[in-house]
Amino acid sequence: MAGVTIASLHKRFGAVRAVDDVSLALSPGEFVSLVGPSGCGKTTLMRIVAGLERAEGGSVSIAGRDVTGLRGADRNVAMVFQSYALYPHMTARQNIALPLVMRRLGARQRLPLVGRVWPGTRAALAGIEADVVATAESLGLAHLLDRKPAQLSGGQRQRVALGRAIVRRPDVFLMDEPLSNLDAALRVQTRKEIVDLHRRAGASTIYVTHDQSEALTMSDRVAVMMAGRILQVASPTAVYDDPRDLRVARFIGSPRINTLAAEIGADGLVRVAGQAMGIASSARGAHVYALRPEHLLLATGGGLAAKVEHVEFLGEALLVHARLTATGEAVVARLTPEDRSRLPADDTVALVPAAGRGLLFGADEA
Ligand code: ATP
Repeated sequence: MAGVTIASLHKRFGAVRAVDDVSLALSPGEFVSLVGPSGCGKTTLMRIVAGLERAEGGSVSIAGRDVTGLRGADRNVAMVFQSYALYPHMTARQNIALPLVMRRLGARQRLPLVGRVWPGTRAALAGIEADVVATAESLGLAHLLDRKPAQLSGGQRQRVALGRAIVRRPDVFLMDEPLSNLDAALRVQTRKEIVDLHRRAGASTIYVTHDQSEALTMSDRVAVMMAGRILQVASPTAVYDDPRDLRVARFIGSPRINTLAAEIGADGLVRVAGQAMGIASSARGAHVYALRPEHLLLATGGGLAAKVEHVEFLGEALLVHARLTATGEAVVARLTPEDRSRLPADDTVALVPAAGRGLLFGADEA
């Protein structure tokens, strides 16, 4: 099995540092999601690893072999994009077989492939059918192999695209928002299929997504990228519960983490809106106190007084948008639906942080 080592990659487009000194190592079989705001460099990084873009500095190694100078075709990397990029005139079978056909036929023989049918060359194609059928079966596509893309649903098309990626047993999968064209239910189902497929194939996977729930549910580790740099690479629970800085804390989690001005006194007491929230170990002075919406609870006594502005019922939860009476700072509390009956008629609630859940960041990060 193969791992991937990305070391000090740099890539600029004019004045934009699209990839700015990025290093990332994946162990063999590891699934790492790459998340970050639009334009932070995710696609550029993937294209460099795939060999579709040349970096200005740094290196990429796959299975211990430096592939920096190699063409994409010589890297044994399979890429799956948001757009399925299937050939419309070919059946699912032919689309899945294509990488194997390309590999086994010489360049001169390949040319007629652009046409309607495979050119014979039976010996070169022997064995391909068995690989295609096995791949199709693993993706639940066996009964659809004779259909053309236009006769398939979006989810089925994406599975054909996945089939085309796995059929040649790559060392590395690079997936760039592969599910973003699917509807919500299909996305959740296909997520599971991709994770299963990744496990069976044993290849390392880098998965770009703007959907955090995808990143958090599918990955061994999540890499958070901003402005060309990777800010944190850690397990899904670590990036969520223990973000390295305020930028990561704010990017991960929906609704966004609450951030409130805090003052830590000489006694070590952390005060938010004049109220003590806990003890800080060594930090003193102005800070930011951050708290996930689900860690803000209705108080039974005391607490931070807040005026409710808006309540959203999500089915499994109640999102309460409020403003602290003392400071006017906006907060969101994720409560249980049963809490609705505890919301006072005058819309003034008292909120308390769940014990031990507050995070402190330097005020300069705000
Ligand atoms: P998104 O989530 O919107 O797809 P991304 O994180 O994948 O964004 P990239 O596509 O890698 O971001 O782009 C990174 C930066 O590089 C952006 O500022 C983008 O405008 C710029 N960029 C990317 N490709 C080119 C190019 N070929 N020429 C000029 N600038 C480019």
